Order: sequence, then structure tokens, then C-alpha cells
Amino acid sequence: MAQVRLEKVSKRFGKRVWAVREFDLRVADREFLVLLGPSGCGKTTTLRMIAGLEQPTAGLIYIGERLVNLVPPRDRDISMVFQSYAVWPHMKVYDNIAFGLRYGRRKKGFSKADVDRVVHEVARLVRIEELLDRYPTQLSGGQRQRVALARALAVKPQVFLYDEPLSNLDAKLRIQMRTELKYIHEQAGATSIYVTHDQAEAMSMADRIMVMRQGQGAQLGSPNEIYFRPANQFVAGFIGTPPMNMLEVEVEEDGGGLMLVSPHFRIPLEGETAAAVKGRGVRQAVLGVRPEDVAVSLEGGDFPARVFVVEPQGPQQILSFKLDEALILKSLASADLPVSPGQQVWLSFHRDRLHLFDRDSGVRIN
Ligand code: ATP
Repeated sequence: MAQVRLEKVSKRFGKRVWAVREFDLRVADREFLVLLGPSGCGKTTTLRMIAGLEQPTAGLIYIGERLVNLVPPRDRDISMVFQSYAVWPHMKVYDNIAFGLRYGRRKKGFSKADVDRVVHEVARLVRIEELLDRYPTQLSGGQRQRVALARALAVKPQVFLYDEPLSNLDAKLRIQMRTELKYIHEQAGATSIYVTHDQAEAMSMADRIMVMRQGQGAQLGSPNEIYFRPANQFVAGFIGTPPMNMLEVEVEEDGGGLMLVSPHFRIPLEGETAAAVKGRGVRQAVLGVRPEDVAVSLEGGDFPARVFVVEPQGPQQILSFKLDEALILKSLASADLPVSPGQQVWLSFHRDRLHLFDRDSGVRIN
């Protein structure tokens, strides 16, 4: 088993496109690490460099203790699973899975019985044992992706690299496969690096997430750290649906305490957040509040607002409030709350869950 380490890795395409820039990453042995970020931020390029399918322009890549910059892909002891189910259409499922064991460069002297045992073992793990005799054309997309997974698992690599493996599946199957992949990762006991732009997928599967932006790391942390303590405004806005509300505020002194002030509300700052603001002499900031931290009441609260749009979501509803022409605030409220468009209600922000960001740099203040 192996850790994976990237030291100041860069990749430039042509003269000007820096797909990845001085990127550092350390993936622990057996960890499930997700590279998450918007389209074009360099996730796939990073994964392809780890796989050996791209050469870094600069920097070092280690798998285990071995520097692999000059090691060809087939000798890196990795398996890669792509978005498109790369399975051989002319081979039965059984032979697709057995291929790497029979013909792989690192063939470990497997007998026919060994191959048969491993094929059944991994087919059972991904639940396609009854499909071994079929051709890929006789399978659904989800089943074909399982075959690709089984084939990757069969060679028992040190590291699995996944490039958006679920994005061609329908929404329901994707959610089911997330759970299964997580289970398979635990069973396989290998290190996994998983690329996605789907934050829900990243949150539900990762031990840690590396959020990427423009070829660099924006934050590395557990799903909860990233969600509850985003290091900057970019990460805060990227993670969470509906996205975090962002409000420009001024900081005012008020009778010894501090207030966050906007044209729509004045709320007192308390505890750790007040201390951070005071310590840094912050005068202006961007206040981030997640929709589930905006409480809606019919009786009273921090400030009044009128319901603009109601979007039912089963047990919850998304309520939008148009605070002014350019500013819509969203709340994720219980579906039990009886509200309709045009109605006036009261809004309050969850005091322990306020996020404050520097207006210029976007870096977290509290
Ligand atoms: P997506 O989620 O859309 O796949 P990504 O985060 O995986 O995006 P990359 O595919 O790594 O992003 O691309 C990063 C940047 O490098 C992009 O600007 C892309 O256009 C550029 N790029 C990637 N491959 C090449 C290439 N072979 N030649 C030139 N530019 C490339």
C-alpha cells in the first residue's frame, strides 16, 4: 500500500496555459482523497500526471517512497477508472476482468484457478457475478461501469485513480454507486484519488477533499472542515446547495460591542468571531451565511423580509427573499412552515455559523 506525494508539481500546455501550478499534495496510505473543483481547474491533468499519462513541466511525484516522474504508467502499480467505461466490447465480462491478470506486465504467476478465484471475488464485490458470461453490449451503463471497476480491482494495485467515473450514470444510479464505491474502497484497502466536479459526491465519499482552483489548492480538509469552516470565499461558494449567501457588511462599534451592519440588518457579533474581527481591526467584510442557517419565523427575528419565491423540496423548502434589486437571500426552511410568496416574515442568522471573509482577498477572517 502507498501514500502519494506531489511536490510543487506544475503542468504547462503550450506557451501559456498553466493547467496546474506549484501544486503540493500528500495522500495518506489507504486514504480516499477527492480532487474537487470547477471545470478547467486542473483536476484531470493532476490525475493524469499521477498516472503517468502526462509529464509534469516541473515538480516531483512519488508513489510510496518511489519517485515516479520517469516511470511509465504500466509500472506505477496503479489502476485508473475513467468516465467512459473503457471495457473491451468483443470480450465477455469474465475475460474483461481477467485480462490484466492474464496479460498484465506485472503478471504474478497466476494459474488458471487463481485467475478464476480473483475474477469471482471482485465480481462479487461489485455485484456482477451473474453477468460474467455476457458481452458489454448486453449490459446497462451502470453494469458496464462495474465491469471497468472490477477489472481495475482485479490487479490489486497500490493506488486507484478515478476520473469522474459516475458522471455518465443517471442520478439515481450515481447515488447508489457512491455508496458502493465507498464500500469497495474500504474492502480493497488501497489508496484512492477521485476526481469530480460534483460537490455532493465529494462530500459523501471523501476522507479528505482537496478543492482546486486555477491549478492550485484552495483548501484541503475533511468534508466537514470544508463545509463548516471554508478557508476562503471561493470554497464557501463552491460547496453547498443552495450556495452560501454572501452579504457585504460593515463592522461598527456599539456600546463596547461590535455590530455587523448592512442596509437590511444590524446584528451583534459575539464570541470567537467578535474576537477575530476586533483583533484584526476589520472594518468591512463579506458575511457568509448558509441557507440552512437562516431561520424563518412568523413572530420575530433579526430583521423582516418578504417571501419572493417558494421552492418545495420534500421535507424542506427553499425560500428566496429579495432584499434589494441585486440581492437575493435564500433560506432552507422546514416544509411545515406555512408561507407563501408576498408574505412578510422574520429572518435570523445562526450566530455560531457566521462566516466572515476579507472583502479583497476572500480569505476567512473568523
Ligand atoms: P473538467 O472538470 O472540465 O474535466 P479539469 O479540472 O479536469 O476540468 P483539466 O482537464 O485538468 O481540468 O484542464 C485544466 C486546464 O488545462 C484547462 O484550461 C484545459 O483547457 C487545459 N488543458 C488540458 N489538457 C490540455 C491539452 N492537452 N492541451 C492544452 N490545454 C489543455
